[in-house]
Amino acid sequence: MYGLESIYIQCPFCWENFEVIADCSVESQEYVEDCEVCCRPIVMKVEIGTDGLPQIEVSRES
Ligand SMILES: [Zn+2]
Repeated sequence: MYGLESIYIQCPFCWENFEVIADCSVESQEYVEDCEVCCRPIVMKVEIGTDGLPQIEVSRES
């Protein structure tokens, strides 16, 4: 159940969809990853649900 999961997210800047790898061994984490398309920093909040699947929330870095 634990490991790396690839998830599609939507960039809050350019609205492109792209794939990111989430580390499911950590229950809750927040980090910044640059958009593959426009290279702007996206704040990603990853939380692992009770089903073991990651939920990602993206926002712009303030
Ligand atoms: Zn982008």
